[in-house]
Amino acid sequence: MASSAFLQQDIAYLKGIGPARAKVLLSELGIRTVRDLLYTFPYKYVDRTVVHTVSQVHEGMPYVQLKGKIIGYELEGQGRKQRLKATFFDGTGYVEFVWFNGVKYVEKSYKVGREYVVLGKPTFWNGHISFAHPELELAENFKPEVHTFRPFYRTTERMKRARLDSRQLTEAIAQAFKGLAESEPEETLPSYIAEKYNLAPLSTSLRHMHFPRQTEELAMAERRMKFEELFFLQLAILRYAKNRKLKYRGFVFARVGNCFMQFYREKLPFELTEAQKRVVHEIRADLGSGRQMNRLLHGDVGSGKTMVALMACLLAVDNGFQACLMAPTEILAEQHFSTLRQMTEGLPLRVELLTGSVKGIRRDEVLRGVADGSVGLLVGTHAVIEPTVNFLNLGLVVIDEQHRFGVEQRAKLWSKNVHPPHVLVMTATPIPRTLAMTVYGDLDVSVIDQLPAGRKPIRTLHYYSNNCAPLYAGMRRELAQGRQAYVVYPLIEESEKSDLKNLEDGFAAMTELFPEYRVGKLHGKMKPQEKEEAMQAFLRRETQILVSTTVIEVGVNVPNATVMVIEDAERFGLAQLHQLRGRVGRGGNQSYCVLVTGYKLSETTRRRIGIMVETTDGFRIAEEDLKLRGPGDLEGTQQSGLPFDLKVANVVRDAEMMSVAREAAETVLQADPYENLPQHHMVWSTLRQMKDRNVNFSAIS
Ligand code: ADP
Ligand code: MG
Repeated sequence: MASSAFLQQDIAYLKGIGPARAKVLLSELGIRTVRDLLYTFPYKYVDRTVVHTVSQVHEGMPYVQLKGKIIGYELEGQGRKQRLKATFFDGTGYVEFVWFNGVKYVEKSYKVGREYVVLGKPTFWNGHISFAHPELELAENFKPEVHTFRPFYRTTERMKRARLDSRQLTEAIAQAFKGLAESEPEETLPSYIAEKYNLAPLSTSLRHMHFPRQTEELAMAERRMKFEELFFLQLAILRYAKNRKLKYRGFVFARVGNCFMQFYREKLPFELTEAQKRVVHEIRADLGSGRQMNRLLHGDVGSGKTMVALMACLLAVDNGFQACLMAPTEILAEQHFSTLRQMTEGLPLRVELLTGSVKGIRRDEVLRGVADGSVGLLVGTHAVIEPTVNFLNLGLVVIDEQHRFGVEQRAKLWSKNVHPPHVLVMTATPIPRTLAMTVYGDLDVSVIDQLPAGRKPIRTLHYYSNNCAPLYAGMRRELAQGRQAYVVYPLIEESEKSDLKNLEDGFAAMTELFPEYRVGKLHGKMKPQEKEEAMQAFLRRETQILVSTTVIEVGVNVPNATVMVIEDAERFGLAQLHQLRGRVGRGGNQSYCVLVTGYKLSETTRRRIGIMVETTDGFRIAEEDLKLRGPGDLEGTQQSGLPFDLKVANVVRDAEMMSVAREAAETVLQADPYENLPQHHMVWSTLRQMKDRNVNFSAIS
């Protein structure tokens, strides 16, 4: 049988598995074919050359091997509660073995007085050590050099009931390898790639993943399998992006016209940073290319993304198209609106706002202007994607702080014109680059990796809530210099009364502590108009302190604010703390972020706070965040996810290999645009097989 046929064979036909267990394996682990089975890798290995003594065993050891003798058996309990216990002695101490079933078999097989090597998981109970269902092997038969490492596979309760525990799965996999014996699995990577990156062959790597004899074998195998996984992941993503670009024609914004030039010469209040210039350049190239743009603009908080967005919008307008800027909250939409309107004053451009609070005649007016094309730039919230909003000729959509928008909402934008408009997605959610290029892998990514000149890094301090006197002194100093301060309270559910009470108490405390200043209040329970008024009052410096919930987390821009106090900081995640901190340090003045926590903190909370105090680098914070939480949790990536699950590689730990694999995938795509070169035959057929299984891409992200 050819290897590919054998690999695709249903495991039901594998010796020792059969239809019933095959069904369990399919539903529990998604294993259908022999290939799936061979790609089900151990999650750990126990080194069988290491034998401990009982005296060395301590709590927290996951598995240990001991060598000694059973000195006696004892049967306890009746019927279903019956269990067999054995006392084991190795010269240094005693441990207890327990079996809850298979009692007769155990007593018959393992003889008192003979020497065994035992593998088991120690549990500590009342001062003695016990092993439930240990594995025993006669010491004289035990040859660790044959199977140095013992693989352990993940199993479920259902699998165990079907006699598919880790050991039995090991057996099944060994059987599968026997079946492969003469027909090695075909190499999936082209030889020039394997050579260039010094990768072990697939067939040996697969074997060594399950049954390595030395650490080096395992390391080489892991390296190869990780590479393969990341290579195909990147290939799938890059290929998808390439095809999408070929498929969708984009509007061509060839002209740099009046609006853009006039804005650049007369309106731009500062010199763009080099990073901003580079990104504007990248966007212009996209918009002029005739392909539909799908670009992620990634820039840390305060890096000046709004300006870049505006310039892209002006390009659209200059070429006879409308542009639209979408923000996740009303506050932010209103703020963008007033900034943009002010900045474009005197230009031949009508800017309008559309949110849930724009009602009645006003709303009709805006909608009419959008439909007849007289509104060149529409700023708004989700309201802009409602079916009642009809653009005459929408050419560009900018989505700010994209993690707040779901994939579906973004997809709705596509129906707003005959051809899909260009899309620019802006985010400050710090995502490590390697992850960005994977999760948003089919988007082009631009990065503003530089803050405007003259910004001083924010100083971050940590105070315990019972010792806030120095904090208030600091606030007083800043306020006396005419600066402003935010005091933020967590609010998990806007309806939670106790949280709102915290905020009210905080408001009262601030009013009392700083009688000479005016204190504002902002939370999600307020009416949109009240919120807007509170925000505007702060912006106009009529209030000096703003006590708020996380409504202000995203995007708000008050450059005169220099103090950010975060109460109950232990209740925030790293990404959120970083976002909140980004509300200060937006002008030329030294700014401060103060994290206030209780005294008792968990280990991870302490680390989170420590990281915040140590660095303001969004990328570093993102990496640390991933380490603490795992990639599945990362804000804003759950919904997009990876096109398929990674089994061996890890997007954080194997970041470097991810870049290498991407480079290799690019090489292959470029060398073989028609996907028909013989040396890539296995690459394309492997990719097709993977896609058939479980690739999932969405239209925009
Ligand atoms: P974000 O990237 O967080 O959305 P914004 O676009 O709100 O940042 O910009 C933050 C602040 O920096 C704003 O006050 C903006 O006017 C200012 N700004 C943007 N670009 C520059 C620049 N090149 N030089 C100086 N200030 C800038
Ligand atoms: Mg912003």
